[in-house]
Amino acid sequence: MTADTASSNTTHLQHYIGGKEVPASDGGRFDLLSPATEKLIATSAKGTADDVDAAVKAARAQFDGGEWRRLNGSQRGQLIYRLAELIARDADLIADMDAGCIGRVPIEPRLLDLPNAIETYRTSAGWADKIEGRTIPTPGYMGMPTLSYTQRVPVGVVGAITPWNTPFMITAWKVGPLLAAGCTVVIKPSEETPHSALHLARLCKEAGFPDGVVNVVTGYGAVVGKALCTHPGVDKITFTGSPEVGAEIQRVAGPLFKRISLELGGKSPQIVFEDASLEAAAQGCAMGVFFNQGQVCAAGTRVLVQRSVAEKFAGMLAAAAKSIKVGDPTQDGVQMGPVAKKGQFERVNRYIRQGIEEGATLLAGGESEHVKGWFVQPTIFADAHNGMSIARDEIFGPVATVIPFDTEEDALRIANDSRYGLAATIWTSNLPRAHRIAQGVQAGAVGVNCWAPIDARLPWGGMKTSGIGRECGAAGIDAYTEEKVITVLLA
Ligand code: NAD
Repeated sequence: MTADTASSNTTHLQHYIGGKEVPASDGGRFDLLSPATEKLIATSAKGTADDVDAAVKAARAQFDGGEWRRLNGSQRGQLIYRLAELIARDADLIADMDAGCIGRVPIEPRLLDLPNAIETYRTSAGWADKIEGRTIPTPGYMGMPTLSYTQRVPVGVVGAITPWNTPFMITAWKVGPLLAAGCTVVIKPSEETPHSALHLARLCKEAGFPDGVVNVVTGYGAVVGKALCTHPGVDKITFTGSPEVGAEIQRVAGPLFKRISLELGGKSPQIVFEDASLEAAAQGCAMGVFFNQGQVCAAGTRVLVQRSVAEKFAGMLAAAAKSIKVGDPTQDGVQMGPVAKKGQFERVNRYIRQGIEEGATLLAGGESEHVKGWFVQPTIFADAHNGMSIARDEIFGPVATVIPFDTEEDALRIANDSRYGLAATIWTSNLPRAHRIAQGVQAGAVGVNCWAPIDARLPWGGMKTSGIGRECGAAGIDAYTEEKVITVLLA
């Protein structure tokens, strides 16, 4: 790491603005603690509105007339591809940065987040010289012939605000496409996970991006995030996080007419029919619940099971939960680390208490006691109904709620009775049924016999409270462009 290091060997992270690592304007810092040991991992610059202003000015200068603005799509694509190769070189290092901050077992980001992020940058590199307009035939202008065509032009300076759960991958879903489109960016990583965004900025410099194209301001949402959302030099906010903060961003940035994309939370159903391969479904469902300690927007924590197999299936899920080895994520054989922070620990335990009070049957796990590190037990509730808080709210922890259903209609009614609509999984061996349910379920992404498949080429985003807009794929490029029409009189 290039950050300066104090004699105690603690890493002191700084902002990355205009190609340089700089401290906060008032010298402020905050501590980053390991959720597994509660020991200090690093300190980070505590950003101010002045820091945001400096970063936006750097991004603005490149967008409005800097070297970046003069590059064509092919040249931008070459830079992005080079960046992807550098990320591939440092993949394990980056995976470990993210894992260490939130107490995740490092193999998870190594196997999923980093390969996905690398593919996202490679795919974005390919898009950079293929952003096309249209020619649109019209009857002409006052009897005279015209040619009308459109161009997709970059939206401008983007403020990218990201969460802590899979930070590098989610940052890639924003930064890859926005660079392909020709935008510049100020990234505001979660206060829990600034490391990997700063490393990305350093790799951009190494790849040859002009200084100021990619900037990072670390710090808290209420200061740095808010300053980005209200800065007159920012054209678009792309946000991934909770619906509550998403609503606040719309309240603050909406009246300023900034373009806004929101990737928000979920309470995704996994629908298990009696004709499914129950072994495969139990394994897949468990992954959908416990991956990353359940701290996944698409976590399939509402497990709807056809009544004839509900008791058996709940037992299988409970057995899977009990078999998970929880502990220090850096130790061999450990499959699940702590949740990311004290607030998460308290939140998960509160919901577990509510589930019991509301009358659901606890089959595995339960409330956890705090000793050292924010460890919670993988938890399965059965005999639940969709009105319980454990079925309605995003817990963002390793807790699943098994709800029985009788018919396909019943399954769809329960699945859609949610304020969220991010993802859904259907477990069945009946192909027409799989399509019927997939078409009826209100979700941005549906997996049939596989949980929440994500890919750089597939659009990702939610319906209802799960968000506005799509990331990745062609839609992910459109999100960073505006369509402009040009009409030429041919007479
Ligand atoms: P969060 O909403 O608390 O924070 C997200 C980011 O917003 C952080 O960087 C935070 O500092 C910033 N922020 C906080 N207040 C702000 C404000 N007033 N103005 C501007 N920015 C502000 O979310 P989190 O706890 O980091 O992440 C968990 C949430 O993210 C969950 O709801 C989860 O479902 C969601 N998520 C969604 C997706 C998706 O693709 N849909 C992916 C991952 C996580």
